[in-house]
Amino acid sequence: MIGSLAIAGLGPGDPALTTPEVSAALAEATDIVGYAPYVARVAPRAGLTLHPSDNRVEIERARDALRLASEGRRVIVVSSGDPGVFAMASAVFEALETAPQWHELEIRVLPGITAMLAAAARIGAPLGHDFCAINLSDNLKPWPLIEKRLRLAAEADFAIAMYNPRSASRPDGFAHVLELLRDAGCGARLMIFARAVSTPDERIDTVALRDASADMADMRTLVILCNSATRRVGRWVYAPRQVR
Ligand code: SAH
Repeated sequence: MIGSLAIAGLGPGDPALTTPEVSAALAEATDIVGYAPYVARVAPRAGLTLHPSDNRVEIERARDALRLASEGRRVIVVSSGDPGVFAMASAVFEALETAPQWHELEIRVLPGITAMLAAAARIGAPLGHDFCAINLSDNLKPWPLIEKRLRLAAEADFAIAMYNPRSASRPDGFAHVLELLRDAGCGARLMIFARAVSTPDERIDTVALRDASADMADMRTLVILCNSATRRVGRWVYAPRQVR
């Protein structure tokens, strides 16, 4: 039997937002590997082995998945959203760098709808002009680098999609982020807090940055700082096509 590895994005939550390509791959799989809450989104069935793991063991998890594939299994590593956005695809390729014996394995990356696109669609079109995405967690990079990127992105008037804004282990970082962005002169810009988009817990709030507080975000929230031209129309928020 010839094994294979797919690194798949499950989308933001609603099964209707999982692509048909990913659903078909899941239906053919023998093994599902990933962070436990994401593995739990895959329905169990006969012939399918689930391998849930902790969040902090990404490279180890990637190696396990590659080993299973090399043994002839049809393995899927699952991420939420898109697997290439702050997720497992990079970890798999990093594991592959030190494992030339696996370079010929069949490996595919199956895209998914990432949180910022699902969130933007819910509120209108806040990413309709130039934007960037920044992961606010300093687990995998130094905090001063996060601050530098935020400052430069604010100066360039990008809309900024912020992933991983706040967690129990990083209670204060997001308050610093709000302060930094206010000091950078963005106080009047709109800020969108999109929580648990496309799940029953979905909640979306939009305020001016100057009125935002750190407790408006948690680990299930995607935050968008809009560019300075972004406006409201009725209950919608959108970035105009043209900026002068
Ligand atoms: N690969 C994922 C991102 C993983 S990082 C993707 O492409 O979406 C995890 C962060 O993603 C969370 O802290 C949160 O900021 C964001 N996120 C993931 N799913 C979300 C959802 N349904 N609603 C809002 N934010 C979400």
